[in-house]
Amino acid sequence: SQRYYIVGNWKMNGMRAALSEARAIDRAAQRLPKVEVAIAPPVTLIAAMRESSTGIGVGAQNCHHAEKGAHTGDLSAPMLREAGADFVIVGHSERRADHHETNEQVKAKAEAAQAVDMGVILCVGESEAERDSGEAEEVVARQLAASLPETAQRLSVAYEPIWAIGTGRVPQVSDVAAMHKRLRAVLTDKYAEEGADVRILYGGSVKGENAEELLAVAEVGGALVGGASLTADGFVPIIAAAA
Ligand code: 13P
Repeated sequence: SQRYYIVGNWKMNGMRAALSEARAIDRAAQRLPKVEVAIAPPVTLIAAMRESSTGIGVGAQNCHHAEKGAHTGDLSAPMLREAGADFVIVGHSERRADHHETNEQVKAKAEAAQAVDMGVILCVGESEAERDSGEAEEVVARQLAASLPETAQRLSVAYEPIWAIGTGRVPQVSDVAAMHKRLRAVLTDKYAEEGADVRILYGGSVKGENAEELLAVAEVGGALVGGASLTADGFVPIIAAAA
């Protein structure tokens, strides 16, 4: 079976001084080769992190869907790749909310990254109201189906319930299991056998203390970690839980 994929999403956190945390995470990751570890820092740190942390993947948190053009302030997948990014997170709920990203745009971003052979981590997840009304699985399955790129090349999916992000709340293990099973069905519908190999990460308040339990859930192939990935003290126990 595949290695667990443990990814830190640093969001809009990290000045150059934080590279020492990445180096400490990198050293720990090199001692745990059974786990695939990556960090998506702010774009400003990608090149430096790529140079100083050689045992982990380094990625971006977003890309534009076009290769180049009149899009002031945006960055294309080829640019991010040249800067040292090996993968890109697309469709994070913070971007869907803050920048009104649609499923169609998320799909186009994923395909732009695949076109330059970057990995893709495609994020989906329900709001608290959707969870409370009992329609979470339906909503997230639809969101995923509408956001998926045409091929499964270097694709991972991250299930992140919006109400679990940065709140310290995590879903019941049985709800994570049911959602991941449903998302697996969406993936095999779309990609046939190749859909079985797409790792589905869980994200939302993953910590050292709950990582082992979440990673043990069927169809959970890794974790997408926000706050706890910013320091070695927070992130290394999660990596260790996956080893
Ligand atoms: P937290 O781990 O801080 O809840 O963030 C999760 C997340 O949004 C990762 O992409």
